[in-house]
Amino acid sequence: MTDSLEALRGEVLERIQQANSVKELEQLRVEALGRSGSLTLLLRGLKDLPAEERPRMGERLNQLRRELELELDGHLATVNQEAKAKALAEEKIDITLPGTRFERGHSHPLTLVIDEIVEIFSTMGFEIARGPDIEDDDHNFEALNIPKDHPARDMQDTFFVAGGNLLRTHTSPVQIRTMESRKPPLQVIVPGAVYRHDDDATHSPMFHQVEGFMVDSNIAFSDLKGVLTHVLRQIFHRDAGVRFRPSFFPFTEPSAEIDIQCVICGGGGTLRNGQVCRVCKASGWLEILGAGMIDPAVFKFVGYDPEEFTGFAFGMGVERIAMLKYGIDDIRLFFQNDLRFLRQFN
Ligand SMILES: [Zn+2]
Repeated sequence: MTDSLEALRGEVLERIQQANSVKELEQLRVEALGRSGSLTLLLRGLKDLPAEERPRMGERLNQLRRELELELDGHLATVNQEAKAKALAEEKIDITLPGTRFERGHSHPLTLVIDEIVEIFSTMGFEIARGPDIEDDDHNFEALNIPKDHPARDMQDTFFVAGGNLLRTHTSPVQIRTMESRKPPLQVIVPGAVYRHDDDATHSPMFHQVEGFMVDSNIAFSDLKGVLTHVLRQIFHRDAGVRFRPSFFPFTEPSAEIDIQCVICGGGGTLRNGQVCRVCKASGWLEILGAGMIDPAVFKFVGYDPEEFTGFAFGMGVERIAMLKYGIDDIRLFFQNDLRFLRQFN
């Protein structure tokens, strides 16, 4: 029996040393010390030994049992520690590594320009109004002194929608809607999208305007001139030349087109390298907005007495201003959502 005891001891101790997982060690514990484990079986065999041998052998077996338990526990602790160290090494976080950056969005260049224009007018006391993109014929044309047979309807290639309505061709209907519901004094700007059947490098079927108007008693052309000159110089350059040319719009009388000194060539018509400025076509001027004194026919439509009130109105194209301001030569870039383009405005 002493031989098999020594053999068992050697075998179990060796397997403990070789075990490298908790599972293996537990398995070993069951095999050696469990209820039907090899050592337990030896203990049970004690009763078959001669009485004088039993105490010595019993003590020997218990000794071995304690030894194996200690070995198992000791090795289990080692295995646990190694597993923990391994996990720690594998899961180690290097806090010096650069983190995952979330890209923050920013405003679209057209929004930047609209915001800037709105800000300039706000400092002069103008309020902001908005209106529907889908308009009726009355607000888009009739009220603005553009009757059905008026040639000005041809100037604006209109998108019609079902039910006789249309996509507004300008932001001017909001001028009508505001005047219909309120009385002067009014100082309002209307930023918004407008729609025309037009599509090339300088025209987009959807583009943006900022409409504005000022109505009160005794509003004169000089007010128009003062306000718009100030605004254009704020947008472009504080010393920029501004030029008013007579023009025609059905909803204003008299009407003017307003030019600003070319922002590319500085008004000279030629570039530094001697080439002709293509942006202003060598004229030195850029047409930037249309304006005029509100036509009495428009006032009559909204129920204002043209003898009591006067006012001016204007409209400017946001894309055109943005193109000149940022030196962009194709309007379609604004709507293609090319991140390489958009990121430049961050
Ligand atoms: Zn020029």
